[in-house]
Amino acid sequence: MKTSQLSGFYKLSSKERLEIVRDFAGLNEEEIAALGNTGSLGKIADRMIENVVGAMPLPLGIAVNFMINGRDYLIPMAIEEPSVVAAASNAAKMARPKGGFQTSSTEPIMIGQIQVTNVPDSSSAQVALLEQKQSILDRANEKDPMLVKLGGGAKDLEVRVIDTAVGPMVIVHLLVNVKDAMGANAVNTMAEAVAPFIEHITGGNVNLRIISNLATYRLASARAVFGKEIIGGEEVVDGIISAYHFAKSDPYRCATHNKGIMNGIDAVVIATGNDFRAVEAGAHAYASIRGQYLPLTHWEKNETHDLVGTIELPLALGLVGGATAVHPTAKINIKILGVKTANELAEIIAAVGLAQNFAALRALATEGIQKGHMSLHARNVAIAAGAQGELIDKVVEILVKEKQVRIDRAKEVLNNLSLEKKA
Ligand code: NAD
Repeated sequence: MKTSQLSGFYKLSSKERLEIVRDFAGLNEEEIAALGNTGSLGKIADRMIENVVGAMPLPLGIAVNFMINGRDYLIPMAIEEPSVVAAASNAAKMARPKGGFQTSSTEPIMIGQIQVTNVPDSSSAQVALLEQKQSILDRANEKDPMLVKLGGGAKDLEVRVIDTAVGPMVIVHLLVNVKDAMGANAVNTMAEAVAPFIEHITGGNVNLRIISNLATYRLASARAVFGKEIIGGEEVVDGIISAYHFAKSDPYRCATHNKGIMNGIDAVVIATGNDFRAVEAGAHAYASIRGQYLPLTHWEKNETHDLVGTIELPLALGLVGGATAVHPTAKINIKILGVKTANELAEIIAAVGLAQNFAALRALATEGIQKGHMSLHARNVAIAAGAQGELIDKVVEILVKEKQVRIDRAKEVLNNLSLEKKA
């Protein structure tokens, strides 16, 4: 009888764990070798997360043509989805004639939340907390002299009272400038450190002490102008603006609009070893901040009837800490980008999100998404059907021509081609 109850699994070496998984799942030697290959991570993999058996590589592509604030960048993108890197590169090319992307960002301020319950008098507690602001900030900053030395640290305090189904709660926000870190560990440590003092001031009980992923004080934005002649005429400009208004008025479309943006954003976030769940959570929460789920981008026409796009979203990214400083490929990707601060990285990623959105909207508003997507998708289908070497391109050609990019058809085509070859 197989069991998944494996006490002490974490104490084993990755090789020993792999053997258990092999026996459990009936894996062959080839599969074991593929799973256990940690690539550029090598032995570090085993120290990054728990119960490691191997690594899960993703293709790494380089998006080209990006000019951001007058400087050229090569952008590493780690993603499994075909056509994203090509679309970003193409969009960046179309942005160049009008100056590429202009970006900006706010200071890297993250919010640490401290939840206080059973407060006898919420209003008095609010006043008392604000009176003690400097002492609270000092206690927080004692926990991270390094960050303070760099000019960061806890800078301000907000106090909110919220009503919930289980009674009112006092929510303290610790605003921390995290400089070049994503900041979760730094902020969580500070939030935990000030909790006893906050209980003392409020007379309540502190429950949660944790960073908020809705980083409304840590925003990055980008803007680009796409000349109407370059993108296919004023009809295309109008088509893209109409598509944008569709997303603005309909959450079903808006989810997909923002997904297209995140295709680009996540790919660079992952390539740089950053926390893509944190970025995703922040992006979608920010998209809903006005009480309605809205696009992260904005599209309009300027006085010369060219297309103007802007994007703004919270981007909590780090160059120090997290996996960025550990993962060997992430470190190389940071070098390729040539960024020196987390803000610069956030601005580049905002530009990529805007480029990705432009590419998707342009494709949708003109030929439809499938044309460009299909030949790339067909490659994966052909490989999944078992095509190798030169047969991959032959299968792709036939599938795309027939507009039947399906695995069953790919197998038939492959079979026919193999028979032809033998004959
Ligand atoms: P970290 O604690 O490893 O690094 C930050 C520390 O590095 C700072 O506190 C500072 O002391 C030091 N430092 C040195 N040079 C610095 C510089 N130039 N700028 C800023 N700090 C500098 O990492 P972190 O960024 O605090 O935490 C990131 C990790 O936390 C990620 O792995 C993330 O996945 C994880 N995490 C996320 C969440 C969440 O998003 N909700 C929750 C918990 C943990």
